[in-house]
Amino acid sequence: MRTLPTSRARTALGIASTAAAACALAVAPALTATPAAPTPGAPAPGATAPGATTPGATTPVNPSVTPVQVVVQVPTVQAITARIIRVDTGQVVGTLGPVNAMAGPTTIPWSGGRGPGGTGQPVADGQYRFEGLAADGVTPLPTTPATVDVDMTAPTPVITIPAPTVPASRRASLPLRPGGATEVRAIVRRPGNESPLVSGAWAPAGGGLPLPAALRSRGIIGTVQVTAEGRDAAGNIGTSEPVIWSVQPAPGGPTVVTRIKTRKPLVALTIDDGYGPSEATRMVEAARSAGVTITFCFNAINSRVWSASFQQMLRDAVKDGTLEICSHGYAHNTGKGTSESAGISDLSRNRPWDEIAGVASGPFYRPPYGAYGSGLLAAARATGYRYVVLWDVDTNDWQGPSASVITQRAVGGARRGSIVLMHTKPNSAAAFADIIRGMKRKGLEPVGLSELFAAGRPG
Ligand SMILES: [Zn+2]
Repeated sequence: MRTLPTSRARTALGIASTAAAACALAVAPALTATPAAPTPGAPAPGATAPGATTPGATTPVNPSVTPVQVVVQVPTVQAITARIIRVDTGQVVGTLGPVNAMAGPTTIPWSGGRGPGGTGQPVADGQYRFEGLAADGVTPLPTTPATVDVDMTAPTPVITIPAPTVPASRRASLPLRPGGATEVRAIVRRPGNESPLVSGAWAPAGGGLPLPAALRSRGIIGTVQVTAEGRDAAGNIGTSEPVIWSVQPAPGGPTVVTRIKTRKPLVALTIDDGYGPSEATRMVEAARSAGVTITFCFNAINSRVWSASFQQMLRDAVKDGTLEICSHGYAHNTGKGTSESAGISDLSRNRPWDEIAGVASGPFYRPPYGAYGSGLLAAARATGYRYVVLWDVDTNDWQGPSASVITQRAVGGARRGSIVLMHTKPNSAAAFADIIRGMKRKGLEPVGLSELFAAGRPG
C-alpha cells in the first residue's frame, strides 16, 4: 500500500503548510529508500528527503512494494554487481547483477528477494546494507543507500475486549493491542456484510481504536462489526479479527416507538420471550437461508430451557448478521404500575441475555405486553435503554392461530417501517419462511432493529 502515504504526502505538499508537508514526507516510507543522487534513466522521486542515507536512521521500507534503488558509482565501463548484506550477521543474502554499466552512477533496483538478481524468497525483516563491486568481484565501489531497514511484516492488531463481557459501553474507542502498527483505524460493517458502513481516519496507535465519528453523525446505533486496520512505517497493513459491538445513542428519552417513518422498504420481525428454543432455532435458520436479519427480545428467565448448543447458535447468528437482540426484561412480570426501582432490577437481571448473545441489548427494550408506566420509562432511561420498542403489526400468535393466519396477519399488516410482533410458538416457526417470502414479494426487506432505526425516525 505504498501509494497511500505517497499520495498523502503529495496532497500535503500541495495544500498544506511547509511544516505539514515536512511531516508527511517524514512518514512516507518510499522517500527514504531512494538514492540521494538522481540517476539518468532511473528518476528517483523524493530523493531530496532529509536523512535518506543516514545509517540506522532510516524509515522502514517494504522493497516488495517499492523497490530499493541501489546506486553504484562506476569509474569506467564494466559489468558490476551489488551484494545485499544483512547488517547484524554480515551474511550475504543476495547479489544484484551483473549489470553492464557506463561510467557514473548506475541504479539497480532491489525488490527484497534473496538470491541471484535479488529475486526469489523475500529476506527476513532487519537492516541491510549494499556493497557495489567492480567487474573483478572484489573491488568495492561507492554505494548508496548505506543501509535500509526492511519491514515486510504486516502489523497484527488485536481488539482486546475483555471476554466474556458484553460490549455495552458508550466508549468512543475500543481497547486495542496495536501489534506493530504505528497507525490504526476502525472499519465498521453490519455483521455479515462485506462492504464497510463507515471507516475511521488513521490515528496514531496506542490510545485504543477510535470509533468513527460518522457513526454518530449518521445515526448508526445497535449491532455492528468492528475491525481494526493497523499500518506500520513501511506501509504494511494488517487487519484484526472482527468483534461485535453495540453502538449506543446519546443518553435521553426513552422514546416509545411503534414503527419507523422511512422511505426505505424495510420491516423488522421481532420475536419475544424465548420459551421455545427449537422454534427460535427454526426461525434463525429460515432467516439465514433467506439472507435477512431478525430480532429476538428474550427474557433471561427462559434461559433455563436454553441448551449450550442453543446459546452457541444464538452467538453465531449474531456474528453472521442473522440476529439482533433487544431486552424484554428478566421475569416477564412488569407493567403499568411497576416502580422505577423494580424496573431497574428487572432490566438489570436480564443482562445474562446480553452475555449469552455476545452483544448489548441496549438501546432496545420491549416491555412485556407493551405495558409501561412512568416507573418503567424511568427504569429504561436509567439503564441506558433509549428506545421502548412496541409494534404496529401484531400477529397475536400467542393465541394459537394457524400458520397461514399468522402469515396473513404479518405480511398483510406490514408496510414500510413496520415492526412486527411474534413469539417463539410452533405455528410461528412454521410460518416464518413464508412470512419472509411474503414480505419480499411485497417489496419489503426484513432487517434488524439497528438497520431499521438508522433508516428513519420513530413515527
Ligand atoms: Zn413477552
